[in-house]
Amino acid sequence: MRILPLLALLALAAPAEARLSREERAMAAAVDREADRHVALLERLVNRNSGTLNLAGVTAVAEMMRAELEPLGFEVRWVEMGETGRAGHIVAAHRGRGRNVLLIGHLDTVFEPDSPFQRFERAGNRATGPGIGDDKGGLVVIVAALRAMQAAGTLSDANVTIVLTGDEERPGAPVAIARRDLIAAGRAAAYALEFENLARDDGREFGTIARRSSTSWTLRATGRTGHSSGVFGEGLGYGAIYEMARILDAFRRELPEPNLTYNVGVVAGGTPATIDEAGFRAAASGKTNIVAETAIARGDIRTLSAEQEQRIRARMQAIVAQHLPRTDAELVFAEDGYPPMAPSAGNRALLARLNAANRDLGLPEMAEYDPARRGAADSGFVAADVDTLGGLGAGGGNAHAMGEWVDLDTIPRQAKRAAVLITRLTRESN
Ligand SMILES: [Zn+2]
Repeated sequence: MRILPLLALLALAAPAEARLSREERAMAAAVDREADRHVALLERLVNRNSGTLNLAGVTAVAEMMRAELEPLGFEVRWVEMGETGRAGHIVAAHRGRGRNVLLIGHLDTVFEPDSPFQRFERAGNRATGPGIGDDKGGLVVIVAALRAMQAAGTLSDANVTIVLTGDEERPGAPVAIARRDLIAAGRAAAYALEFENLARDDGREFGTIARRSSTSWTLRATGRTGHSSGVFGEGLGYGAIYEMARILDAFRRELPEPNLTYNVGVVAGGTPATIDEAGFRAAASGKTNIVAETAIARGDIRTLSAEQEQRIRARMQAIVAQHLPRTDAELVFAEDGYPPMAPSAGNRALLARLNAANRDLGLPEMAEYDPARRGAADSGFVAADVDTLGGLGAGGGNAHAMGEWVDLDTIPRQAKRAAVLITRLTRESN
């Protein structure tokens, strides 16, 4: 009777890697062996500016990724996206047997060539640089995992597709063309893994099974203009600014519900009021004694599911339609938004597979991250068609800001998880 607890203790005390197969141990060892190579690749990728609108830079980073992927046996295609005003995408295929696993990342960053933030810098196991976590760290995790698979012999017959978009931070238009290849790859895949930043909180690492959408909107209110002494009266009515205020206040009071946010980012009103074509710079003039003719506001909404997105859009339109006397207003949603990656049983099952890999690697279990705290990403374009897991890239902070950084220790950890997970998924039976 004493032998059982003893065996249980021995099992607990056994080195974690003993739970990996021989091939999986070889993959983990290959990742560790190449740690310096990963950092060197990250430095080169970061030091090549690839702001979304720097088409030459995005193309150059694509060529650097081609140079990594072709020696691994990938057939690498560059899909030109000139018609959408963007550089293009990498679509790479490794033909093999078994289930197709799609890996998603992006080549571009939010830092254009005029940003003062351009260089990779390292201090110990922390490195800073533009796009270092979003998403160049993710590109390095993909390369590190695939190189480990090749070293261990598990890549040779694996069926893997990679899509690296060149415009994740500022998608080209129309989105139907800009995301055509990504959506098609998602439909053909059995699983999708997205290599954006690892979600972390107080040193704990989390799994990403859901992301909210991101859609921007423009609201334009109009009214009759005239002398302020007639405001609220039969002839002039309320003017554009009161109509705008009514609508925004009704949004604030009537729409709140879980997993939904909607922000107003800019507003201008007067006689006249205008906004530039990009929608960033608003201008207005007016006098205190003139009823406002025009008011313009722009903002966003973020939702957790397509159902919530459609329902909230309809409620916003219903609020807009209740015009004050002698006013009008129109709410337009942008067509280049990101759809949500809704939490699904299939996504949760993928996180369970990742946690099996964590257990076998001797790493702590990863809980689900609160989707309200995650931004939108390209995984939203495939998640309606294929089970998807996100956040498999590097961990760090300050994404999209000066001082963006990564914890370099997260790269080999994420690469080991990815190598084990990709290998197991491609070998899964139907
Ligand atoms: Zn990103």
